[in-house]
Amino acid sequence: MTVRIEEVARNTYLIDCGKDSIFSLPQVAYLLIDDLPVLIDPGSTSVAAELLPSVGDLGIDVRELAYIIPTHIHLDHGGGVGYLTQHLHKPKVVLHPKGAEHLAEPTRLVRGARLVFGNNLEETMGPVLPVPRERIHVAEDGEVIRLRSRDLTIIFSPGHAAHHIAIQDSLTGGLFCGDALGFITESMPDTPFPVGLPPFDAEAYVKSIDKLAALSPNIIFYAHHRARTEVKELTSRLREVCITLGEIIQGAIQAGMEEAKIYQRVLEYVRSLWAGADLPIMVEAGISGYVQYYRNRR
Ligand SMILES: [Zn+2]
Repeated sequence: MTVRIEEVARNTYLIDCGKDSIFSLPQVAYLLIDDLPVLIDPGSTSVAAELLPSVGDLGIDVRELAYIIPTHIHLDHGGGVGYLTQHLHKPKVVLHPKGAEHLAEPTRLVRGARLVFGNNLEETMGPVLPVPRERIHVAEDGEVIRLRSRDLTIIFSPGHAAHHIAIQDSLTGGLFCGDALGFITESMPDTPFPVGLPPFDAEAYVKSIDKLAALSPNIIFYAHHRARTEVKELTSRLREVCITLGEIIQGAIQAGMEEAKIYQRVLEYVRSLWAGADLPIMVEAGISGYVQYYRNRR
């Protein structure tokens, strides 16, 4: 694993830990340098272990890390938090109330993750260690974490997961969006696609896009991509894709189409978006979450 570090905004460092072995998406964490350093989306245990030394390369004593904030507890964002709390005795872990218990007692989380990442997920992602309860800070929607030079506001943003949060940063005017604003590949840099792994809530996802876009961030820090400033274009494009997917799937379900046909119809639309480029693996996973959501809703 090669780790690449880039200063993407003032005192804001992107740490790219390379592509994951399953979805082949970049795994990106962010380090905010301040009187109280903050690490956002540290990733799985394997990734977290790999990125820690790079925090030191930036002149930060890792033992001084004050906050670890996974945007949500899926293993590729928060699976390594338990490992980090075992090695670092200071940082508080900021979590959505619906995510807190699952990191304190990760058995169910791991069971669910095996369905997505396969049974040997510990071999690739490392073990998922529990986070001691006294280290967890359960956040409220709109809560502000004050650092010397910036305020971080926690924004609940369900859809991809019920326990998803985004983080708004007053210093850079940026937003750390986790998986709430889609994923983007370099082959289709202007079309974000929803991260719709089941259980996915397609309607909550669109509401969260609107909620985050209304904050008018001037930069989006993506968890599986990089920092982007074309905020309006990217969020409205994503919204449009989400709405179209919903319409296609609901129309197909109402017409009584069988599952395979529905997928076919959605794939046609998605292929037209990708215009000949190879479809990322996450797209298929995303479609299944969408179809499941609209089927269950009926
Ligand atoms: Zn996720």
